[in-house]
Amino acid sequence: MQDKIDQLRTLSVSPQALFIGGAWRQPVSSATMDVISPIDGTRLTTIADAGKEDVDLAVKAARHAFEKGSWSKAAPAERKKVLLKIAELIEKNALELAVLGVRDNGTEISMALKAEPGSAAGTFRYYAETIDKVYGEIAPTAENILGLVHREPIGVVAAIVPWNFPMMIGAWKIAPALAAGNSVVLKPAEGASLTLLKLAEICAEAGLPEGVFNVVTGRGAVCGEALGLHMDIDVLAFTGSGSIGRRLLEYSARSNLKRVYLELGGKSPNIVFADVPDMDEAAKVSAYGIFRNAGQVCVAGSRLLVEKSIHQAFAEKLVGVAETMKVGDPLQFSTEIGAVSSEAQLGKDLGYVEQALVEGAFLRTGGKRILGETGGFYMQPTIFDIRPDMTLAREEVFGPILSIIPFESEAEALEIANATDYGLASAVWTSNLSRAHRMIRNIRAGVVHVNTYGGADNTVPLGGVKQSGNGHDKSLHALDKYVDLKTAWIKL
Ligand code: NAP
Repeated sequence: MQDKIDQLRTLSVSPQALFIGGAWRQPVSSATMDVISPIDGTRLTTIADAGKEDVDLAVKAARHAFEKGSWSKAAPAERKKVLLKIAELIEKNALELAVLGVRDNGTEISMALKAEPGSAAGTFRYYAETIDKVYGEIAPTAENILGLVHREPIGVVAAIVPWNFPMMIGAWKIAPALAAGNSVVLKPAEGASLTLLKLAEICAEAGLPEGVFNVVTGRGAVCGEALGLHMDIDVLAFTGSGSIGRRLLEYSARSNLKRVYLELGGKSPNIVFADVPDMDEAAKVSAYGIFRNAGQVCVAGSRLLVEKSIHQAFAEKLVGVAETMKVGDPLQFSTEIGAVSSEAQLGKDLGYVEQALVEGAFLRTGGKRILGETGGFYMQPTIFDIRPDMTLAREEVFGPILSIIPFESEAEALEIANATDYGLASAVWTSNLSRAHRMIRNIRAGVVHVNTYGGADNTVPLGGVKQSGNGHDKSLHALDKYVDLKTAWIKL
């Protein structure tokens, strides 16, 4: 496989256009943006820098397709065939897609292969298989009335996604939205557009009618804002930071009150009690749970809360794992921590290290940029001991930085765990079943792992509470975001 990866990494990538109404089009302004590979800092290609006029064209194409009905009114079994074909084509092109994505955003290939094309294909297949098994309802009304609840596609869905795991997160929104019969306009992040442009090609090849899926690339502040303020978009499904999520809610209020679903960041507590079943396993999984993809994982366990009696021993094990993880070229299959996605993000990560030192945090390992000679953006996995009042305990870094906070009791662990504006993921390591269930009930987060960290598949929802968001991706529940309920009240 490494040979094939090495061949694919040298392929030139042609300048990319917008995918609107089933065809490639240059943006009205002809403006483009450079795509810089985080692997070595070189220019990979250019993408189109879409403006408001381009967004208008894409929304028009999506609306036209929706009204025409060849997708929105197609039998679910017909939609299923096309979605299954999309899954098949993603799988057929998995390695090419994974390598292209890694060149664009720096995720290590071993992870990208599974998490990007692998997961996206699984998501298309899941919603394809679901959609012809979802029924409407007959309400339990009085004898002379028939109350029917119809589930209908809503119309035009805009999806705005981040640069980490673009295919996986894109598919979490695109697949259920399409399965339900909607048209979609997708805006990928500037730092990870290439695989989602390929997905447009795949959707067309699979037989998705033109205009049903459109991709506009460009700056969030311009084309993202145009989507947010558009009067003809019905649903806006977003994954990204809380600051942009807030703006999207404002855009909705200032325009047509489109529904806005937000999947935002986290500062997830990973809580290790002294009765952890296997300390070595917990240290390894915890280190991987923060450092893979250079910490650029929304559910990363970035706050490690550890019971005081095992604090030193556990921290030393963590340092041992971190210092042996292989950081470097993300296109080497053996690499465990790839590149930070951009120079700006690397600067932000290093800024957090400086700030932590100023605040008096104790640096156990890491903290530096490495492999600068490659031109790429790499950072050592970094571990600090901190206090709960420090910046690292409150702000999402989205980089390879783990903060350790000791605690003395279950009550204190819970208090520290919940002392955050976020509520995305969490974990508890313990041999005490009752304690595990108490923690599951009392931690304010969308996900509580027990004696593991990460994973989960399409069968369960992923979403946050508090300022980590208001929607769920994955599972049958995600379909509800893309469906209108209509009541028919019939006198018999
Ligand atoms: P971001 O800066 O919020 O950007 C996300 C998307 O919003 C990008 O496509 C961006 O475009 C676009 N955008 C920027 N400004 C906009 C505006 N004014 N109007 C509309 N769209 C705009 O987030 P990111 O840095 O890409 O991603 C990291 C964040 O995502 C972290 O907070 C992470 O925790 C979160 N995340 C959450 C989940 C989850 O499932 N909860 C999963 C993954 C990531 P540009 O690229 O052009 O700026």
